[in-house]
Amino acid sequence: MTAGTTQRWRRIYDELTVGRSSFTGQGLFAGGAIRAREKIGEFEGEVIGLREARRRARGRRIIAIVELERHALDATRTRRGFRYINHSCDPNTFMRCTDTRAEFYARRAIRAGEELTVDYGECQHDGKLRCRCGAANCRGWI
Ligand SMILES: [Zn+2]
Repeated sequence: MTAGTTQRWRRIYDELTVGRSSFTGQGLFAGGAIRAREKIGEFEGEVIGLREARRRARGRRIIAIVELERHALDATRTRRGFRYINHSCDPNTFMRCTDTRAEFYARRAIRAGEELTVDYGECQHDGKLRCRCGAANCRGWI
């Protein structure tokens, strides 16, 4: 990866804003246009063990924890970034997890000001939260 590529996603990431979601609570929004397949950023959070992650997730309604191979990232105290991204069954971003990082990429071209969404997929909600994403293919539960 070149230095230029790194700088570009850092700028996209720094431009993200938090605001009122069109379908639930707060959401994460693109500050500028993002090209399809482009890296948007990485999930930031406190590095904790997997057992601790499951303990913290229990009983929480809003979970800002991503589990990786050997540890987890808890963004509960993080004031910006992907902890604010909402789930959609037809999202405009996707997550790619390495052993140590959870990276976000654009699934398609995204307009400036558009709300970012991701498919939470396997997370600790265990399909118990009702989904209000409004997508035509909505599964109904997160
Ligand atoms: Zn849905």
